Amino acid sequence: MKNEREEGKGGGRGDSEKKPKPSSGSALSMSESQRISSSHLRVTQSLRPAPHPSSFTLHPLKRLGQNFLVSGGIVDRIINALGPQGDETIIEIGPGKGALTTRLVAEAGSVVAIEFDRNLGPALLEKFASRKNFTLVQGDALDTDFCEAIRPATQARVVANLPYNISTAILQRLIDQRSCITEMVLMLQREVVDRITAPAGATERGYLSVLVEAYCETEKLFDVAPGAFRPAPKVWSSVVRLRTRQQNEVEMNEQLFLSIVSAGFAQRRKTILNNLRKAPAALQELIKPRGGVSIILCEANIQPQRRAETLTVAEWFRLARLLA
Ligand code: SAM
Repeated sequence: MKNEREEGKGGGRGDSEKKPKPSSGSALSMSESQRISSSHLRVTQSLRPAPHPSSFTLHPLKRLGQNFLVSGGIVDRIINALGPQGDETIIEIGPGKGALTTRLVAEAGSVVAIEFDRNLGPALLEKFASRKNFTLVQGDALDTDFCEAIRPATQARVVANLPYNISTAILQRLIDQRSCITEMVLMLQREVVDRITAPAGATERGYLSVLVEAYCETEKLFDVAPGAFRPAPKVWSSVVRLRTRQQNEVEMNEQLFLSIVSAGFAQRRKTILNNLRKAPAALQELIKPRGGVSIILCEANIQPQRRAETLTVAEWFRLARLLA
């Protein structure tokens, strides 16, 4: 299906896994990011002026996935699903014009909002100037150390209407930093949520499904029609809850686990045997001394003719353990 919000398409919002370019000038790195608390307009690093007048009326930027929520009903449903508490910290990725943020600052103990578009920063600060619990981190969520950003808190929950072109990369980053993230309520492209929640055996099952299932409990909450956004995307969205597992079986060799899953899904039409035979050199070096792919699969009790999408997370774990 062709659409604006889909990952994996060339150009505009469809650029899979690409980091967005900054709204102007040179790229913002985390070291240049500005952490600003609206209460005292605390600026912990030098504040470069926004290149254009601050305003919420500027044209939405397609390359930053700016489809802003305009449905109060959907805002309510997301906030109700999250249930912000007065004693907790919530991270919001991409506050945009503040549709969710307005509710968050009213209900959560503390809100740390990470926005890439420097043109939105001043208007956000102005909008939430009276809120002592609002902190703006002006920078790229893909470079953000979330655990650092929420200090002095040590744990937070995340809510976001994610820019879909980078949603997989952000998911990976959130999972990497799960030591300080307990739960996420995320709006994603519906197809991505279907992939994330696909059980073993489903055609939608892929690398992302295994990655997320290994580290999170997932719960699809509800679908959202394109009309809930301005501008309206061409596709439906879905809201999903991900609860991070603080401990699981792969903690000891996460990189190995992910490289096996990635190699297993390299070519979807091929069997697990053929994909692992073509695995990258580093993985081959672990496989060869153990007798080759067929032996490893046999020891893991996995039929070599199966395809990657049929494997359960427990089976991927078994493979990883045999190669560790
Ligand atoms: N939360 C707002 C809403 O629901 O109306 C805006 C959601 S809009 C789909 C995505 C937001 O993420 C935009 O404000 C965009 O500027 C911001 N964004 C895009 N890429 C980002 C990145 N790498 N880091 C942080 N924010 C980003």
